[in-house]
Amino acid sequence: MGRALIIGCGGVAGVVIHKCCQNSDVFEEIMIASRTKSKCDAIKEKLDGTTATKIRTAKVDADNVDELCALIDEYKPDIVMNIALPYQDLTIMDACLKCGVNYMDTANYEPEDTDDPEWRAIYEKRCKDEGFTAYFDYSWQWAYKKKFEEAGLTALLGSGFDPGVTQAYCAYAQKHLFDEIDTIDILDCNGGDHGYPFATNFNPEINLREVSAPGSYWEDGHWVEIPAMSIKREYDFDQVGHKDMYLLHHEEIESLAKNIPGVKRIRFFMTFGQSYLTHMKCLENVGMLSTTPIEFEGHQIVPIQFLKALLPDPATLGPRTKGKTNIGCIFTGKKDGKEKTAYIYNVCDHEECYREVGSQAISYTTGVPAMIGAAMLLTGKWNKPGVYTVEEFDPDPYMEALNKWGLPWQIDDKPVLVD
Ligand code: NDP
Repeated sequence: MGRALIIGCGGVAGVVIHKCCQNSDVFEEIMIASRTKSKCDAIKEKLDGTTATKIRTAKVDADNVDELCALIDEYKPDIVMNIALPYQDLTIMDACLKCGVNYMDTANYEPEDTDDPEWRAIYEKRCKDEGFTAYFDYSWQWAYKKKFEEAGLTALLGSGFDPGVTQAYCAYAQKHLFDEIDTIDILDCNGGDHGYPFATNFNPEINLREVSAPGSYWEDGHWVEIPAMSIKREYDFDQVGHKDMYLLHHEEIESLAKNIPGVKRIRFFMTFGQSYLTHMKCLENVGMLSTTPIEFEGHQIVPIQFLKALLPDPATLGPRTKGKTNIGCIFTGKKDGKEKTAYIYNVCDHEECYREVGSQAISYTTGVPAMIGAAMLLTGKWNKPGVYTVEEFDPDPYMEALNKWGLPWQIDDKPVLVD
């Protein structure tokens, strides 16, 4: 049916590539293109002969629009899947517009260099106007809406698990379970253990930037920002057990606040163990999470990039990780005039993911919805020109595909609520 250009070949892309190759009716051909071509060739070699999908590989610098356009013009994909980093979102969107191709990604734009004065001026105004200080927000990509509409192209933003599946859960709750949704609590629990004293489950730079930032939530039409990790709750997760979780800022809160009419409060919680938090605080205190370059023995180094080089590569955690993830959304609201609650969630087992595709569950829970999002566009099930997040489309075919492709969900209609 279609041809996809997959950009990036890290932990998440590894799962995306396996899943596209399982779904050869839709993904007849894929090209894997990344900065390090040897990684693309290694995965092609592993999968060739096991799938009907025809695989090609290439080297590309996705920061360079001309290089991207040359590759797109040569390969002529029906969709470009950005599974590289959020730093590349805008250059890849620019290339898609120039070459007339649909676009999708799994995380919203943030700049690599947060000291860039031009970006900083816009960021500081946004912090004042909007009231949250995270480095990432949707404004940069929403600004492309008119251009994609005029070009008759679709850009699907954030089709991972969170963002991604969590918004499909919200759209499903809105369509089938509630007349009015009052509150949404997104709960992201990783009960997995990889045996290292400290490692991140996806790109360390992006992950540590996210979790060390101030937390924030949406309440009564505005943002409330709090110091990092200052709101803590304990929750008893199905198939995982009791975990401490902390309120974080998260990108889907921004789009859900726009797209779920009348919602009064949206919060996001993620579980962390004490050891992770102690390591992170210590690294932060000594300056290792800084994105500002420093001079070291005649070289410019960015502390958080140096730290990334020291930490285990998340793509290698698969064989070591045991336990389960449990990610979902708790809703309160009304149906037929009565108060109602619902909890939609998925439980995913790290070891089963490894057996199936050679990756841990964090990459798996991101990579499967990325494949599904691209399949929605390729099959024409989700098709409207412009720039959209997951909850802006019909959730039904996406929810059905989650059950089919390895992320089955369930609904608890009497969940314990988070206070
Ligand atoms: P990795 O660091 O493992 O992989 C990133 C890949 O992108 C690497 O192959 C890297 O190349 C490649 N890359 C980086 N810069 C460039 C460039 N300029 N040109 C071409 N390729 C480039 O990251 P993950 O796989 O862990 O994460 C991928 C994405 O998924 C991130 O955007 C992350 O934020 C997102 N994510 C989303 C989640 C969700 O639920 N929505 C959850 C987890 C992650 P090289 O191999 O040479 O370094």
